[in-house]
Amino acid sequence: MAMGEFDLIERYFKRPARHAVLGVGDDCALLQPTPGMQWAISSDMLVEGRHFLSTVDPVRLGHKALAVNLSDLAACGARPVAFTLSLALPRADEAWLAGFSEGLLALADAHGCELVGGDTTQGPLNISITVFGEVPPDQALLRHGAQPGDDIYLSGTVGDARLALEVFRGHQAITGEAFERCRLRMELPTPRVALGLALRGIAHAALDISDGLLGDLGHVLQRSQVGAVIETGWLQQSAAVTPDLLALPWLRRLDLALAGGDDYELLFTAPKSHRERVHAAAHDSQTPVTRIGHITAEPGLRVLDPQGQPVTRRFSSFDHFQP
Ligand code: ADP
Ligand code: MG
Repeated sequence: MAMGEFDLIERYFKRPARHAVLGVGDDCALLQPTPGMQWAISSDMLVEGRHFLSTVDPVRLGHKALAVNLSDLAACGARPVAFTLSLALPRADEAWLAGFSEGLLALADAHGCELVGGDTTQGPLNISITVFGEVPPDQALLRHGAQPGDDIYLSGTVGDARLALEVFRGHQAITGEAFERCRLRMELPTPRVALGLALRGIAHAALDISDGLLGDLGHVLQRSQVGAVIETGWLQQSAAVTPDLLALPWLRRLDLALAGGDDYELLFTAPKSHRERVHAAAHDSQTPVTRIGHITAEPGLRVLDPQGQPVTRRFSSFDHFQP
C-alpha cells in the first residue's frame, strides 16, 4: 500500500490505551477482566456490495460497522468494553480512512468501547469487527429463555432501513425528508445498549433483529421450544412504525416491518408480571418499546391482522444464501 500499513494503523486506528492494559501496537492486546464478570464476544463482517453500497459515506460506514456489533452485545445485555478491527482495503485512500475512523471511533467513544487491535491487509473492501463486552454470570439475555405467556416486545422502529434499501434498488419511490429519515436508519443504526443493560433480570429471552423480525423471532422460538402470536395492530400506528412506513399500503408495510432486515432493534420477551419493569427499563434507557404479541406453548408462529384474523401470506427473512 502506498501509505504503508503501519503508518496507516498509527494514524487512523491507534489511540492511547485507556481501559485496556495494552492496546494497538504489539502482537496481542491485553485486557483485564473485571473480577466476577464474564466476557460476551461477538463478530460481524461487512462486505461491500452485500452489506453496504460502495457509495456510502465512510463516516457512516465506520459507525455502522461498529453499531451492528454493539447491537449483538446489547441483545445479550452486555456492557461494551473493547473491539478489534480487521480491514481489507483496495488501497490506502486517506480521505476514506479519515472518514471511516472518525465515524467508527466516535461511536466507540460514545460507548466507552476501546479499539485494541486488528489486522490490515490489501484486498476487496471488507470490514470485520469483534467486540468484547462484560456481563455478570447468569445475567446474559439469551435466545432460549422465552416462556409461554411471555409478552413479546420490540424496541424502536422496524422496516424503515429496508425501505431505504428498496429506494436505492429502484423498487420504491420516496423522496425528500422521508427518504433521508429512512436512509439514516439504514446507514446510522442505533445500537440499543442501554436498553439491553436495563433488561438484565427482566427479559426472559432477547436478540437483535438483523435479518427481519419474524425470521429472527423464529430463532427465539426454536431455541426456547415455544410458539408465538404476533398481533399487527401496532403496525397501524405506534412508536414502532415511522410515518414514512405508515404511508404505504398495508401489505407492503407488513412485509417491510416484519421481514425487512437491517433494523438492529431488540426483540425480547418478558413475563406479564414484569410489564411495569419493562416500562421502567424503556423509560430509563430512553428507548421506545412496543408490545407486539405473546409467546405460546403451542409451537409455530401466527401473525394476526388488526381485526384478529390470521395473516396467511408467507414472509421470507433476509438470507444471504438465498437469491
Ligand atoms: P502482526 O503482524 O503481529 O499480526 P500487525 O502488523 O498485523 O501485527 O499489526 C500491528 C499492530 O497493529 C497489532 O497490535 C494489531 O493488533 C494492530 N492493528 C493492525 N491493524 C489494525 C486495525 N485495522 N485497527 C486496529 N489495530 C490494528
Ligand atoms: Mg496481523
